[in-house]
Amino acid sequence: MTSDDTRALDEADPLASLKQRFALPPGVIYLDGNSLGALPRATADVLDDAVTRQWGNRLIRSWNEGWIEAPQRIGDRIAPIIGAAPGEVIVADSTSVNLFKLLVAALRIHPTRRTIVSEQGNFPTDLQIAEGALGCVAGARLKAVPRANLTTALDGDTAVLLLTQVQYKTGARFDLKTLTAAAHAAGAVVLWDLSHSTGAIPVDLNEAGADLAVGCTYKYLNGGPGAPAFLYVAARWQARLASPLSGWMGHTAPFAFADAYTPAPGITRWLAGTPPILALAALEAGIDLWREIDRPTVWAKSAVLFEILAAAGDSLGLECVTPRAAMERGSHISFRHPNAYPICQALIARGVIGDFRDPDILRMGLTPLYLSHEDVWRAGEILREIITTEAWRDPRFSQRLAVT
Ligand SMILES: *Cc1c(COP(=O)(O)O)cnc(C)c1O
Repeated sequence: MTSDDTRALDEADPLASLKQRFALPPGVIYLDGNSLGALPRATADVLDDAVTRQWGNRLIRSWNEGWIEAPQRIGDRIAPIIGAAPGEVIVADSTSVNLFKLLVAALRIHPTRRTIVSEQGNFPTDLQIAEGALGCVAGARLKAVPRANLTTALDGDTAVLLLTQVQYKTGARFDLKTLTAAAHAAGAVVLWDLSHSTGAIPVDLNEAGADLAVGCTYKYLNGGPGAPAFLYVAARWQARLASPLSGWMGHTAPFAFADAYTPAPGITRWLAGTPPILALAALEAGIDLWREIDRPTVWAKSAVLFEILAAAGDSLGLECVTPRAAMERGSHISFRHPNAYPICQALIARGVIGDFRDPDILRMGLTPLYLSHEDVWRAGEILREIITTEAWRDPRFSQRLAVT
C-alpha cells in the first residue's frame, strides 16, 4: 500500500469528517484509543455546563433536572452498541467493581455450583477481582485455564464462566455465541468483559443469549480517564440477582431513608452510591457521537486499518500475535518483539502513540472515528524507520515509566 492508496481510501471514507470532532494535538498519530479514548471537542463545553450552570447555578435542584436518572439514561444509550435492550444496561462504578458485584451474585445463583472458570492471562483485574469474590461465597473457587481448555473445564460445579471477549494483549476474540452456548450447556451463566469490544467490534449480547456483562467506557467510547463503567444484566435475570454492594442508590426507594435494604426493580439495583455526575457528563458527550455513526461502517474501517499496519509489520518481518481474520480479533494489532519497550518509546518520541504490554508486546489501537487510513500508513512508515535505523537503541528509550 502506498500513501496515494491510503489517501484515496480517505477520500471515499464516510467517517472521515468525524476526526474533526476530536481535539487531537497536532503532529500526533494516536494509536492508544483502546486504552484511553481521545477527547471529543464537545466534552469541554458539556463539562463547563455541568459545572457552571448545573452545579454552580442550579445546585441541588439539578438532581431532579437530569442527574438522578443519568446512570440509566446513559446505559440505554450504550445498549444498542452491545446488542442489549433498554433497561438492561446501567452505568456505575468501575469495571472492576462491576465485575465484583456480578461475580458474587452469579456465585449465589445455584446452591451447589461453586467454581468460576476463566482464562489464564485474562486481564489482571478480572482474575484478581474473582479472587476477592471467592471470599464472599463459602467454598467458592477459581479455575483459570489456558484458552484452548476453556470448554472442557466447564462441568457440573461451574457457576460462572468469566471471559474477556477481546484479549487485551493479543486482540484475539472469542465468539460470543459459541462460548455463551458452551456455558449454558454446562448449566452455568456467562459473564462477559467487553472492555476491548465495546465500540470496537459488533457485539450482540441478546442474540448470543448472554447473561451478564461489564465493560469500560474510557476506551473506544471516549468517556474520559476513569469514566464510570457499564454493567449489563439480561432482562430474564434481573429479578433473580441482587448486588452484594447493597447501597442506598440501588434501593427501591432511596429517599424513603429506610434502615433495611430492599433492592430496586430492574437494572437500578446495581447502583451502590451516588453517581459521579461530572464524570457521567463527560461520558455522555463521548456516547453522543455514536448517535450519528453507522456502526457497520466503523467495523469495516477498523478491518482496513488493521490490514495497513499488518502489511507494514509483514514487510519488516515483525511477528504479529493478533489473529489475521477480522472476525477473530478486536480493533488493535500487537507485534511481539524483544525490544518492544524501546521501540514503543521511540515511536512516541516521533508522535506515534501506541503502548507496550509486558514483557514483549507492542500494541497499537485502531480507532476508526479519529484515525485516517493515511495516519495508520504513516505510523507504519515511522515504525519502519525506527526498526531499520535501530533508532530505538538510544538509551533514553529504555527508561521505564510507571504507566506503560
Ligand atoms: C481496561 C480493562 C479493564 C479496566 O477496569 P477498571 O476497573 O476500569 O480499571 C477491565 N477489564 C478489561 C478486560 C480491560 O481491558
